[in-house]
Amino acid sequence: MTTYDYDLFVVGGGSGGVRAARVAAGYGAKVALAEEYRFGGTCVIRGCIPKKLLVYASRFRDDFEDAIGFGWSDTAAKFHWPTLIANKDAEITRLEGIYRSLLEKAGVRAMTGRAELVDNNTLIVQPGNRRVTARIVLIATGGRPVLTEIPGIGHAITSNEAFHLDQLPASMIVVGGGYIAIEFACIFQAFGVATTLLYRGPKILRGFDEDLRDALTAELTKRGIDVVCGTEIAKIDKGWTGLKAELTDGRSVNAGQIMYATGRRPNTAGIGLEAAGVRLGESGQIAVDAYSRASAANIYAIGDVTNRVNLTPVAIREGHAFADSVFGNRPTLVDHELVPTAVFSTPEVGTVGLTEHSARQRYAKLDIYKARFRPLKHTLSGRDERMLMKLVVDGESDRVLGCHVLGPDAAEIVQVAAIALRLKATKADFDATMALHPTVAEELVTMREKWQPPVETAGAKAAEQEADCR
Ligand SMILES: Cc1cc2nc3c(=O)[nH]c(=O)nc-3n(C[C@H](O)[C@H](O)[C@H](O)COP(=O)(O)OP(=O)(O)OC[C@H]3O[C@@H](n4cnc5c(N)ncnc54)[C@H](O)[C@@H]3O)c2cc1C
Repeated sequence: MTTYDYDLFVVGGGSGGVRAARVAAGYGAKVALAEEYRFGGTCVIRGCIPKKLLVYASRFRDDFEDAIGFGWSDTAAKFHWPTLIANKDAEITRLEGIYRSLLEKAGVRAMTGRAELVDNNTLIVQPGNRRVTARIVLIATGGRPVLTEIPGIGHAITSNEAFHLDQLPASMIVVGGGYIAIEFACIFQAFGVATTLLYRGPKILRGFDEDLRDALTAELTKRGIDVVCGTEIAKIDKGWTGLKAELTDGRSVNAGQIMYATGRRPNTAGIGLEAAGVRLGESGQIAVDAYSRASAANIYAIGDVTNRVNLTPVAIREGHAFADSVFGNRPTLVDHELVPTAVFSTPEVGTVGLTEHSARQRYAKLDIYKARFRPLKHTLSGRDERMLMKLVVDGESDRVLGCHVLGPDAAEIVQVAAIALRLKATKADFDATMALHPTVAEELVTMREKWQPPVETAGAKAAEQEADCR
């Protein structure tokens, strides 16, 4: 019988890889893991966690402004970006240490270096040309930002660099219409950077419920973010005073910095997948079956490199399910339906389940419930910000299919609503749930009137389309 150095070798020490390694080791497997950059991966080092810290920092601006209506004075405060970045970096270093020690405590051999397959069971880890063999290999290499190939793109940054800017520019163009672009636009704008959010599609936040997309666009615009859709940058020039972006519609915009958040691509290059006969899918992701097994029998892949649902909790769940299935003798599937998700914009978005549009393709009759209102807090703060709550309900079974929230604490609200949707709660269950007063979330259990679409005229439709952007 062939003997190997390890039962499992994990390539990538991010959310998914670390979880898989620890759980497999807990089942008694001999496990090693290689990480080429920093333990913790995208989420901890340059994703969810540092981003949420910047989001918290950015929201103090609202608190200082809102306090005045509640009787506070002298609320003018100064913000110092280098202090925030230094404190954030210290916390990330602490977390990185925790990730590394979690692996070591679990008995996983944690290696710093870049791993590459040379055949199905053999890997080389650089630097040092370390050769290791393993019975099972798990690829958990995540993804990376992609930049559009245009002249001058070298002057632009991505979210990776945005976390480490020495100082804030006076103005910024954030390119993209997805959650990362929107979140960074809100962060920069709150710190006083004149921010343009530039998106080539007709409306930001593709794939989200239309009402959320419209309401968020309106709120961002009210906050002073210049939301420009339907155009993109053709060329970037660097001058004495900053960058100049020439747009495809003929206009040009000047900015101190340009950040691209136009998508991410699975990290599959240069890791020897061809040598091991691992097949890639259409978007360059590792193609896997429901148990995360790749086309080569002893190779598995989880997380962003498989491009299923690219979120941290999903990568963690996939890593755990892989270890349960392969080393715990407990075949476990991951349910990729009903994944709650958030956009940590200000105001924030939380969503779970079907959008109205996707529900209409699958269900014959829908009932829609919507509330758009000013939260109690803003009656005294005077802030012109409106909350949106929306439920998409199957008109036949009464089951709640989708829950969409825009406003303060939307992500926290939707995390809990996700339990109800998973338990197949009906609208009658929502109605029978006692309200918790006074909260904004109580609106979810007090919406009684079904929403009726307004009678549409040709003129109204044209005006609505025009208002989508700008
Ligand atoms: C700015 C930003 C904000 C985000 N915000 C959120 C959020 O709010 N909520 C959320 O759920 N998700 C968020 N995400 C997504 C989330 O970070 C990812 O879905 C998650 O990190 C995926 O985990 P993973 O284990 O698949 O890969 P990763 O965490 O990317 O880990 C992969 C690791 O593999 C390493 N690696 C790659 N190749 C090799 C090699 N050959 N050898 C050794 N090591 C290698 C990399 O250095 C990396 O550390 C955000 C992402 C970004 C970029």
